[in-house]
Amino acid sequence: MPPSSSKYSERAAELRELLNKANHAYYVLDSPLMEDAVYDCLYRELLDLETKLPNLRTPDSPSQRLGGKPVARFTNTIHRIPLLSLDNAFNFEELKAWFKRINKIILEHKPHNKYIKVVGELKIDGNALALSYANGLLIRAATRGDGAEGEDITSNARTISSIPLRLHLKNPPSWLEVRGEAFLPNKNFHAINSQREEKGESLFANPRNACAGTLRQLDPQIVASRQLDFMAYTVHFPEDWRAHKNDPNKPVGQWEALQWLRVAGFKINPNAELLSDTKAVETFCNHWEHDRRSLPYATDGVVIKINTFALQSLTGVTQKAPRWAIALKFPAEEAPSQLIRLTYQVGRTGAITPVAEFKPITLAGTSVSRATLHNANRLETLDLHSGDTIVVRKAGEIIPEVLRVLKELRPKNTKRLELPIYCPECNSKLTKANDEAATRCINSSCPAILRGGLRHWVSKGSMNVDGLGVKLIEQLVAKNLVKSIADLYTLDVSLLSTLERMGNKSAENLVAALDNSKKKAWYKQLYGLGIHHIGEGNAKTLARAFPNIAELENTACKTPEEITEIYGIGEEISQSLTAWFTTPSNQQLIADLKHIGFSFEASSVGKATKESDGNKQISLAKGYSFVLTGTMSSLSRNEATDLIEQAGGKVKSSVTSNTTFLVAGEKAGSKLRKAKELGIKIIDEAELIKICLPQESIANL
Ligand code: NAD
Repeated sequence: MPPSSSKYSERAAELRELLNKANHAYYVLDSPLMEDAVYDCLYRELLDLETKLPNLRTPDSPSQRLGGKPVARFTNTIHRIPLLSLDNAFNFEELKAWFKRINKIILEHKPHNKYIKVVGELKIDGNALALSYANGLLIRAATRGDGAEGEDITSNARTISSIPLRLHLKNPPSWLEVRGEAFLPNKNFHAINSQREEKGESLFANPRNACAGTLRQLDPQIVASRQLDFMAYTVHFPEDWRAHKNDPNKPVGQWEALQWLRVAGFKINPNAELLSDTKAVETFCNHWEHDRRSLPYATDGVVIKINTFALQSLTGVTQKAPRWAIALKFPAEEAPSQLIRLTYQVGRTGAITPVAEFKPITLAGTSVSRATLHNANRLETLDLHSGDTIVVRKAGEIIPEVLRVLKELRPKNTKRLELPIYCPECNSKLTKANDEAATRCINSSCPAILRGGLRHWVSKGSMNVDGLGVKLIEQLVAKNLVKSIADLYTLDVSLLSTLERMGNKSAENLVAALDNSKKKAWYKQLYGLGIHHIGEGNAKTLARAFPNIAELENTACKTPEEITEIYGIGEEISQSLTAWFTTPSNQQLIADLKHIGFSFEASSVGKATKESDGNKQISLAKGYSFVLTGTMSSLSRNEATDLIEQAGGKVKSSVTSNTTFLVAGEKAGSKLRKAKELGIKIIDEAELIKICLPQESIANL
């Protein structure tokens, strides 16, 4: 063996051990150790190694075995014809390559057979069953087991109402075997899991495992109550019956077999299609990749089968699977990869986020090589070591994340990865508050925090400054041209146009965009400051409650409890505001921005423009404070709050002697009692509308 092969043989041994363990957990215990997609990736890695170095292929390799050994809970039964697995393709290119291979085999034998039709079927994620019928009567139902031998679960299969106990045929053959998928519809799966949760029992990982667990129940009553379903996809006739060429009903291909099964009394999947070319196959695959979530059962791919039985026989079978069929697995949303390094990002609030960089993998159709770990706690719970194999998840538009570590594949002598003690950007000591998950850099002049703050200030929700992207911000900070948000407004065209990728025109546009940003609404200015916990919604609420920054600052510093009385604003937010306003560098920032032309007040922004929505105040309810309780029939809590605040009133969270009105809806509780005790005026929804809306608006309602 070449010297480097010892590395491969070690890896192959690790993979074998892990996959064999996973097989046992999956097939025997019905309790998978990992996601199917992760299993598939690791299995493929092992296959690739075994193909590259065939002497790595040992008799105990999972590549040499089909499924798991049947458990002894039921009588085992030898299958007349082995129940094989299916080869997998993980993308359309692999499926096309399979089609080419098959075409070649067929054309070698039948040079004129140019048009090969295939049947496209859904791959229901359940459990294969082999049903034996003698003279039309169901005599045995068996699981696949290891393909050669399965478990006799006849009494359980009899409870599945879509399995006919007697075939709907006038002259059934003496023997017949039907194969198909038993599955648990999603609705039943969720119901079973919620019942188990209530009883404190362990949950089934997915419908397939729940189905396998159900089929192995010793009590058929329980099986019946779970309402499994079954769809047939294959029929095996006795040799002599198939040989009876004159039988007009004898299926000659998969498509006809499906129709035959339907006539014989089985449920077949209505979404199967007879497809004439690769274009049609691609359309079928794409359609189900997108629409599968609308189905009432789980699917993990589509199965493409050569239609004609005669052509199927020409291509034959391998040890594990027929050559004439292939499963195209839907794109994985989880996959394993090997960690290359861990880096650390410093966010605009100083929070340190570990980021895993790993060998590129394809997830949900895109290549992924970095994923966040969210925070330090996550790093600890993952127990990540250098060189670890990690499981990464990316579903749709969701940011990729590291789900867990496959510790079984951890290389020897590796180091546990820890958060750094010093900021990777400015080298100052990091801190961690006891009640927080985040470890932070608290150096306000840390370049990473500054860059994050600038990005936030110019972002769409805030000042929406066009032409000031990440790269430009990096240059401005690196060259020390900008040390605070206010410095952005000191940049002129001549200086900007000396920067990389900045022409004169772009510099002019940027200066104009910055100048224009001074007219943004008060709540946007507040939001742009990036105060911890002040997102867009909270900024709007605060901007309605306080007409300018001076009043907000005054309250935050002197009477912060008044801030928590504002509906929707809690103590954490109030504390964050106090901390922010009492920091000298922040006071300086406000002074500098005011000097530049930011007024930080409602009246300063275009009164009649849409921008001023967050500030619009009609004074009908000015000076009144409202507390909301119970459910209103026409207004949601947020709508009622908007209505009051737009009329100049304030919404408070608790009833005090200063409350003007308690607005009581249906099922009002303790607040109503307290208001009665304190003699506060209690009004209903209609009265609230009367107080807050001008009469002419009410007339138009
Ligand atoms: P498979 O599930 O990928 O495909 C074969 C099976 O597909 C058949 O046995 C049948 O039950 C089913 N099927 C559904 N619709 C079908 C149709 N229309 N026509 C034909 N067959 C249809 O293969 P397998 O050998 O049963 O299982 C291997 C797979 O099981 C792996 O690819 C992996 O995803 C999963 N697995 C997962 C773990 C784990 O730890 N998560 C462990 C072992 C296996």
